[in-house]
Amino acid sequence: MAMTATKTSYRTCPLCEATCGLEIVTQGREIMTIKGDAQDIFSQGYICPKAYSLKELHEDPDIIRQPMVRYGEEWRIVSWDEAFAHIEQHLMPLLQRYGRNALAMYAGNPNVHSLANQLFIPTLIHAAGTQQLFSASSVDQLPKQVSSGLMFGTSLSVAIPDIDHTDYLLLLGANPLVSNGSLMTAPDMRGRVRRLLQRGGKIVVIDPYRTRTAQEASEHYAIRPGTDALLLFAIVQTLFAENLLAPGCLGEYLNGLEQLRELAQPFTAEQVAPRCGIAAETIRTLARELAAAPRAVVYGRMGTCTQEFGTLASWLVDVINILTGNLDRAGGALFPKAAAGARNTSGVGGRGRGIGYGRWKSRVRGLPEFFGELPSSCLAEEIETAGDGQVRALITIAGNPVLSTPNSSRLQAALGTLEYMVSVDIYLNETTRFANVILPPAPILTRSHYDITFYQLATRNIAHYSPPVLAHEEGMVDEWVILLRLAGILSGQGAQVDPALLDDMAMTTLIKREVTTPGSRLAGHNVKELLAMLQPRTGPERVLDFLLRSGPYGDGFGAQPDGLSLTMLEQHPHGIDLGPLQPRIPEVLRTPSGKIELAPPLLVADVARLQVALERPAEGLVLIGRRDLRTNNSWMHNLHVLTKGKERCTLHVHPDDAARLQLCEGTIAQVSSRVGTVTLPVEITDAIMPGVVSIPHGWGHGLLGTRMHIASEHAGVNINLLTDETQYDMLSGNAVLNGIAVTVTTRDIVSPPTVA
Ligand code: SF4
Repeated sequence: MAMTATKTSYRTCPLCEATCGLEIVTQGREIMTIKGDAQDIFSQGYICPKAYSLKELHEDPDIIRQPMVRYGEEWRIVSWDEAFAHIEQHLMPLLQRYGRNALAMYAGNPNVHSLANQLFIPTLIHAAGTQQLFSASSVDQLPKQVSSGLMFGTSLSVAIPDIDHTDYLLLLGANPLVSNGSLMTAPDMRGRVRRLLQRGGKIVVIDPYRTRTAQEASEHYAIRPGTDALLLFAIVQTLFAENLLAPGCLGEYLNGLEQLRELAQPFTAEQVAPRCGIAAETIRTLARELAAAPRAVVYGRMGTCTQEFGTLASWLVDVINILTGNLDRAGGALFPKAAAGARNTSGVGGRGRGIGYGRWKSRVRGLPEFFGELPSSCLAEEIETAGDGQVRALITIAGNPVLSTPNSSRLQAALGTLEYMVSVDIYLNETTRFANVILPPAPILTRSHYDITFYQLATRNIAHYSPPVLAHEEGMVDEWVILLRLAGILSGQGAQVDPALLDDMAMTTLIKREVTTPGSRLAGHNVKELLAMLQPRTGPERVLDFLLRSGPYGDGFGAQPDGLSLTMLEQHPHGIDLGPLQPRIPEVLRTPSGKIELAPPLLVADVARLQVALERPAEGLVLIGRRDLRTNNSWMHNLHVLTKGKERCTLHVHPDDAARLQLCEGTIAQVSSRVGTVTLPVEITDAIMPGVVSIPHGWGHGLLGTRMHIASEHAGVNINLLTDETQYDMLSGNAVLNGIAVTVTTRDIVSPPTVA
């Protein structure tokens, strides 16, 4: 009998920000092997254990493969036409009756790893016409986007540590050896960290927890959660006080230097040391070392964002890089120049409109929108609170806010009151169980891939397109087709609308915008001619081809014949290296002033709040999250290969606290905050600083109505039953997920929840 031939495909891993290249061998529809692509121009063969799980993910029997409609507690499989007809029949009357803002949308983190969703969610949002837009950004990196936007002019003008060339790396609230890098796309973080140390460089980690990165670093200082902005301001104050400023050639592009000097004055090392838990002399030493190092960079991540002063901390990271002359130079922090989709490469370089902010406010709490979104902490109250604009329907796209956003109990109760809900998702999880209809996109390996976002955050300029590894099976529908059919319904064109028509319309709109953008390479071009030149492509490939060809390395539709196009990327299955990051100031700037805004008014106004915090007595016991190499938020816990072994959802407690609280290793502890209580086993470790306990995020499975069997067997507890939706970074609205006041007792000693 003839054997089916094997096929070798090269595919960028879509599971985290590192964008490693994979070599996947298939036979028919079966995945035979997955390994690192040794020829990948960026990862050169490196992969982490998560990559192997793609086989199990592809074969997971719990994955939803056909649309489902819920009737009471029962789910029925339906055809795609039936599913969309159900949505039209139930959703549209609601919107006609209550208005567009009665519909909310929530997009989860996996969307940023999906080419189709990156390109087509905007079309769905436009069709929905609602201002009730939420995403996982506001439980993650939004503060960094806000501070970068205010300083440099676009939300993804984030300066990335040049980790391969620096001599001195100061990390705050970041654990790249476990996260594999975030807002710093580069495969093999461990190798990069080790090479930095081997070439005589120094790594200093500031974190309440002695993380795996901290264990490898030259020095680690434990900081009281939520006080990073104070520490960073004290470094700024020291730089001013000791005349250590050396902004170099950036000087002529700086606005607000003197205002910054004044703002920094109260934050002396002596003043902030007791709040941070880091000695004043250590803080001054950090400032001096940063100033003295030939090439240094400060980098802050998750821990610095998900706290009360997340935007101020994110701002001060860049401020220090600027004051020490390390922004926009090799070995410091540099701006990538991405091949496709970057706002900081469009139009006329050097000046722009800046970022959108506060164009509308959340209805209940009055929080301002940023980049068109409202904080996810507001979602429950927008559903619960009666009145004009009350959310009555929800669309979730690859998101699980029940596990990802603060005060899960409240959100779950609110979701239960929705009049209609649609989820575009592959799992019946803690959130999608509330949906009326679930629309499952085709499996990951049947989708093409290009990292529109992460190449804007990479430590090297690269471009890498991956075609689908496997063909569709009968009945599978691509994500972008699902999104366009939803857009067809919401735009009033009906459930039967041909997605190809909407695809054409979206493409035409994009081209029209480009040819009318001053400074564009395509300014003045004929729309029809450009459309014809993109034939016969459709969907994400057509948009991507357009973005590449009109981008900074593109062929300009003939203007530069050896320039980039999707055809060229298809001929390079291991990616194309576009070279090391280069200085981009002033061309990268899109601020109205054409300068780097060192003291943007919104940030300046928020400093008074930080000053109040300086005087505040330290809280008692506080809770922080943590992350594990084998997990990625909540959605990968249904894979045996990633969940097997020792239980990981435990409460980490310092030995001193354990003794004080009479907790033993393995004891079941009860942890309570203002909003809830969880119980979980104790693990005693001196890796965590005294006064701080930690629970990993993304757990809390096994709830009634979910269908994730392996996740249910390793359920763990949901840290967001403890985090508090009323605590947020005032400026960005980002949730506070670290530094939550808690009490801890053994389960037998029942205490009332602490009111913060
Ligand atoms: S580090 Fe990230 S991108 Fe690389 S193999 Fe692991 S999960 Fe995939």
